[in-house]
Amino acid sequence: MARIVRLHLRYPQGWTRAPEFVEKLQQVFDVFQADVSFIVASSAGVAGGRLTSVNADPCTTAPTAEVAALFRDLAPAGMADDEIAVLFAAGLSGSVRWGCAQCPQGRRGVLVSCLAPPIALAHEVAHLYLGPGHDADSSNLMFADSAALSMDPPILLATQIAALQGGTWVLPPPGGGLVFTAAPPPKTRARRKRPAPAKKTRRKKTKKKTAVRRNRTATKKQKPRHGTTKTRRLKRRRAAKARPKRARKRR
Ligand SMILES: [Zn+2]
Repeated sequence: MARIVRLHLRYPQGWTRAPEFVEKLQQVFDVFQADVSFIVASSAGVAGGRLTSVNADPCTTAPTAEVAALFRDLAPAGMADDEIAVLFAAGLSGSVRWGCAQCPQGRRGVLVSCLAPPIALAHEVAHLYLGPGHDADSSNLMFADSAALSMDPPILLATQIAALQGGTWVLPPPGGGLVFTAAPPPKTRARRKRPAPAKKTRRKKTKKKTAVRRNRTATKKQKPRHGTTKTRRLKRRRAAKARPKRARKRR
């Protein structure tokens, strides 16, 4: 049974793109065969400019005073272990561009820029389980710049999946991390997806059989077909000419 993670979405009033981010989050975790369903438990536009320009810099070991205050004021009180608050800000000031996964104790959540690509939410949520580190590979979900990812969907290393399974950072869900079902290393899965090597190995194994089959079909399809249709036509014509005479004779 899939683990349910309930999301509390808060965004600048009038902004409508939150569902795109949630859809991408679910899609990415499905690719990694994470046995988890993200459900929107609450969704609210925030007026008064509180989520207009947020200072999350530096996003290293703790949230800034501004971010901590936003989580305390906007995330629901008494959040359970299976809940995540998602604060979308119209823009982030400072060097933090797309988001930050630093949140105060008791309010597990992430901050994401409305200007970020939707996959930034998956990246930040993964931070909650993996910690603040980044991967240098631009095809990895944990590459620092979500807008410069070279693969869609991106990959996660087997070690990262293992870390997700046992994640103990910030506020881990009960049981210590997400549950993955039959998780092969995504890098291998990505390689398998590439069509060229798969075809080559198939060809090698069935080379002789397919060659014979091809020849058979070629002779069946091409040479005899023309011959048979021609001879059939001739036979039909001859039969058509012959029939009425015989019929007349009989009658
Ligand atoms: Zn990051």
